[in-house]
Amino acid sequence: METLVLGSGTSHGVPMIGCDCAVCRSSDPKNHRFRPSILVRHAGKAILVDTTPELRMQCLAFDVRQVDAVLFTHTHADHVFGLDDLRRFNDMMDSEIPVYGDADTLDDIRRIYPYIFKQTQAGGGKPRLTLHAVEPEFEMFGLHIRSFYVQHGKLPVLAYRFDAPAQNSSAAYSCAYVTDVSFIPPDSMARLANLDVLILDAVRFEPHATHFGLYQALDIITLLKPRQAYLTHLSHAFDHEIVNAQLPPNVALAYDGLSITG
Ligand SMILES: [Zn+2]
Ligand SMILES: [Zn+2]
Ligand SMILES: [Zn+2]
Repeated sequence: METLVLGSGTSHGVPMIGCDCAVCRSSDPKNHRFRPSILVRHAGKAILVDTTPELRMQCLAFDVRQVDAVLFTHTHADHVFGLDDLRRFNDMMDSEIPVYGDADTLDDIRRIYPYIFKQTQAGGGKPRLTLHAVEPEFEMFGLHIRSFYVQHGKLPVLAYRFDAPAQNSSAAYSCAYVTDVSFIPPDSMARLANLDVLILDAVRFEPHATHFGLYQALDIITLLKPRQAYLTHLSHAFDHEIVNAQLPPNVALAYDGLSITG
């Protein structure tokens, strides 16, 4: 399994419009952060988690040519406003793309993008998507996937855990993506036990109403003990090189283009 971080930035992106801070003005490419999403590749298939406003730029930057399914966490703009770009994958792969989310997410997608689901033209120009209610546990492309809720302020949003079974040459492997979170309820903490890789929200140093701050995220990592943790949904508060050097050995800042394999 490969997890490719397509975007590691918070909702503003980094650089942020009109900001002259050292991180926004940095020439370090790791301080350039698209809005947050990941691509999970396994057995020749690719699952995209969220469609950011920069989906097109992300796919060009990291040469993504295949999306076989999309999972949504929630429908804040930084997670859904690139949905229309999926039509390029319809064309390249000559197939519909299944899209998964909870009932509220699917309702929002129908409301935000009514033209996609109306018969207004014969072929072409629109994404071809099928909408599916996500199950708490399901199999997809040889992966065992679990979806479960975490709290994003008062909004419940979905987190995802991907488990690849042991195969001849490789051991079992697990990765979880928990973005946009300020509280993880105990039953969801239980689903995050024994992870190889945890990708977790940490928007800035201090706590935030709807996101973990760095020290809250580190406390969660201490409790869950993943083999490796990466922090995402990062704002301009974090200079990659400076902050990364101060993190515990099993924790790192994610960055756009980071490929995590196991
Ligand atoms: Zn977000
Ligand atoms: Zn800035
Ligand atoms: Zn959000």
